[in-house]
Amino acid sequence: MTIKLPVVEEPASSLRSDGSRNYVHPADVKGRFTRLRYIIFAVLIAIYVTLPFVKVGGHPAVFMDIVNRRFYLFGGVFNAQDFWLMFFLLSGVGLTLLILTAIKGRLWCGYACPQTVFLEGAFRRVERLIEGPRAQRLRRNAAGFTFDKLWRKFLKHALYLVLALLLSHVFISYFVSLPSVVDMVQRSPAEHPTAFTWVVVMSAILYFNFSWFREQLCLIICPYGRLQSTMTDRDTMVIGYDFNRGEPRGKASDPSNGDCVDCKRCVVVCPTGIDIRNGLQMECVGCAACVDACDEIMDKLGRDEGLVRYDSLNGLEGKPKHFGRPRLFFYGGIATLWLLGTALAFSQSVAFEANVLRLEGAPFMVVDAKVRNSLRVHLVNKTGDKQTFIIEPESESGIEYIIPQQRIELKSLGSTYLPILAILPQDKMRPGLKLQLTISMEGRDDRKASRLVEAPFVGPGS
Ligand code: SF4
Ligand code: SF4
Repeated sequence: MTIKLPVVEEPASSLRSDGSRNYVHPADVKGRFTRLRYIIFAVLIAIYVTLPFVKVGGHPAVFMDIVNRRFYLFGGVFNAQDFWLMFFLLSGVGLTLLILTAIKGRLWCGYACPQTVFLEGAFRRVERLIEGPRAQRLRRNAAGFTFDKLWRKFLKHALYLVLALLLSHVFISYFVSLPSVVDMVQRSPAEHPTAFTWVVVMSAILYFNFSWFREQLCLIICPYGRLQSTMTDRDTMVIGYDFNRGEPRGKASDPSNGDCVDCKRCVVVCPTGIDIRNGLQMECVGCAACVDACDEIMDKLGRDEGLVRYDSLNGLEGKPKHFGRPRLFFYGGIATLWLLGTALAFSQSVAFEANVLRLEGAPFMVVDAKVRNSLRVHLVNKTGDKQTFIIEPESESGIEYIIPQQRIELKSLGSTYLPILAILPQDKMRPGLKLQLTISMEGRDDRKASRLVEAPFVGPGS
């Protein structure tokens, strides 16, 4: 028997029918998914906080050095000219999320989104520690002002502020380096007004978001939840209620009822305040709290777990499930193209940049029947280490080269301009003549460590 999903016209439970906010106080829940989520939250928060301390190849593991326009990523060093590679990085993240959503629904929201990770893994834990479980919180909030209520609220918000400040300082250290943040903290804000303003604004936003706005960010601001219906289908894994098994809901003692005893435990644990029994909803962030809550009830009743469970819409309705769907083949095709494009892009990246630039003004001079070309070589070390570069001119064209510095050392991402004078007797001028320099990195013999740069040799009649 297939039961039709009811059409739900009431607004999300975190909003009242007049549009005002209905503050959600989710109850505590225990269970396998909640345990797993807390482990993941702890790991992700630990990664976020410790990453600025981690070094790879002598550089921070992840560091967007805004001031010097450099980007360090797990040993790789990129400068402003490499910024286009970010396209591959960001599109790869977007594509992964797209495929993950098509197969596994909103796992990202429930387990790894920073909003969920910090709210559930830090701020809500502080709230529960200081104000107690849901029932106590509701009772205290409904009561008048007492000393007990005031000190708890004060302490909770003070800790929220400390957390917001900590998170924003860690965030800033991804852009101005950890030693700089430590140094700035010890000095007057007037000495670093930009960083100070960023920290203050960010802390204020984090405090507002995690102390009050909370699930409203997912419901009102985040576009991902709203786009979910375009990325999923009836075979995508979602969290759903088994209507066939649960309905009609009612007392456990009545054998004509389904398995749902209408205890509303799944509703009170929901951080967005919705009732999963109303079907798949945009407001569901896939946290699985209702799964654990209902399993707990089913265990107590001695019934099978899984009345609320991870399943596809087809699975919940007892229909056949399919893994291979046109959507996944299409996404797979895009992912293959992305992989090829990324491999090609990164294979083109070079260990150093070298360009021959002509000096402004006269392109050439003729002195004593000799044609002179004055040029500069622009050299950029794109590796993460100090390198020595050797410049060797070709010797077959008859051009005489004067290179004041044929061996030069450059620090990581350091650059320089080297003057070069090329001279050729005027009677040896011929069309298509080129000056050529081989530039190589000392101590390396791989393909990326040596290249030929050239420029036309110009003179009268060329
Ligand atoms: S927790 Fe389970 S039994 Fe209780 S109302 Fe929700 S679905 Fe029904
Ligand atoms: S409906 Fe269930 S999975 Fe969705 S947000 Fe609420 S508790 Fe989490």
